Amino acid sequence: MLKRKTIQQAQKIHTATQSHLDFLVRSSNDSITCTDLNRNITIWNPSAEKLYGYKKAEILGKKIDLIIPPDKYKEISMLLKKSLKGEVVANYETERIRKDGKLLNVSITISPVKNDKNKLIGFSTITRDITRQKRLEENLKIFKEAFEATVDAVQIVALDGKILFYNKATQTIYGYSKSELRGKSISILYNDRHFSQRIVAPQVLKRGSWSGEVESKRSDGTVFTVWLITSVIKHNNKPIAFIRIARDITEIKKLENLKADFLSTAAHELRTPLTTLKLISEAHLRKYKKYGKDQIKLSELNLINLELNKLNLLINDILDDSRVERGKLNMHFTTIDLNKLIQQVTKKMKLLYKHHNIVYKQNKNLRVIADPARIEQVMINLISNAVKYSPIFTNIIIILDKDHDGKAIISVRDEGQGIPKEKQELIFDRFYQVKEHSSKGFGLGLYISREIIRAHKGKLWVDSKVEKGSTFYFTLQSL
Ligand code: ADP
Repeated sequence: MLKRKTIQQAQKIHTATQSHLDFLVRSSNDSITCTDLNRNITIWNPSAEKLYGYKKAEILGKKIDLIIPPDKYKEISMLLKKSLKGEVVANYETERIRKDGKLLNVSITISPVKNDKNKLIGFSTITRDITRQKRLEENLKIFKEAFEATVDAVQIVALDGKILFYNKATQTIYGYSKSELRGKSISILYNDRHFSQRIVAPQVLKRGSWSGEVESKRSDGTVFTVWLITSVIKHNNKPIAFIRIARDITEIKKLENLKADFLSTAAHELRTPLTTLKLISEAHLRKYKKYGKDQIKLSELNLINLELNKLNLLINDILDDSRVERGKLNMHFTTIDLNKLIQQVTKKMKLLYKHHNIVYKQNKNLRVIADPARIEQVMINLISNAVKYSPIFTNIIIILDKDHDGKAIISVRDEGQGIPKEKQELIFDRFYQVKEHSSKGFGLGLYISREIIRAHKGKLWVDSKVEKGSTFYFTLQSL
């Protein structure tokens, strides 16, 4: 009697627990599904209906494989085995398919289901849809990658000026380590520490953005120029932070300065021979009017010729420079007798520069494939540089030889002021002129000469000692 009562009570408790569980399953926000040992669906709650698009009535008794992508069949068998062994399978991220075929990112928790006699009768799965979260994570990853990959220095700055985030380029451009700048005031990136507070921040808050050239400071104290664009970041129409994008424009500035210098040098250099020409021709005119043509002196005509030559060279350099920049330095290759060519150039140069002792020493016969006009241009440039940068009545020695590879090697040596070691490579740069030398050109001759020799697959270089002189060498492939 007592036993029957106990059984009845136990049944009551069981029924109450059962209906309580049913209620929980029905009202859960997570999808809850159960399957028997043959993978047939036995429980399908309303959240599962919503998640997968299948009604309970249509799916009960069907195989769970309906909602599993085929490439995940192996995975589910492995998970079920794990769960059976008592291992926890919780919040496992995988994929499922909706009735309409859409792929879902889900997180699943699997538990074995046993009957009163502790016999395994199936599995229950709680599924959470994480598609949105996954998409957000993916988007965030792309944003982060883009932020890191940009070559400009980008920082997100709080309204009070504290740095919240910064990318790799900020580290390299400003010279800071990975977390050194976090929480620091943005003012440390400026040369003028108050510039941001005084100019940038108020303008950005007023107009939404500010851009301009700014003197910036690296961690080692060196100053450089950036082009800065700062904009406000808003949330619900309220400013919450700033985004700063800074581009290092040191190289552009350098080129701009070089161009500005070039223009003033060009004007000056072109004016000097023109003034001389004007003076000589005016003097000639006066003499001609007064005494007739017999009084015109050959030496003066020579001077006119010399100045015209200089002008010609200067203008050719400007033209060639723009050709090099556009990749249009045309070459007309032919077989040439290098010895003969150098002899001719030396002769011309000796006539032009009478105050230097120009000597061509070697007389090797070497034939090369080259553009004779361009090689003459290089020779003229090297010889007139030797004249320009060495005292009068000194020697300029030209030698033609063969190097150990059989290449033709031409050298032009002077006894002039020489070039400091650290500047010997720079003189081949566009517009570069050694500051210690008084300006006597555009700083283009060697730049163009190197391009010409490069187009001949040769090399042009210098060996020089200050106050002792310089020797310029170039090579050409001989036949
Ligand atoms: P520039 O028209 O200024 O002579 P170049 O390109 O020919 O231009 O030469 C660049 C610079 O290299 C010159 O301004 C000068 O400072 C230096 N240089 C060139 N040749 C010599 C030389 N033979 N001796 C000393 N310095 C030289």
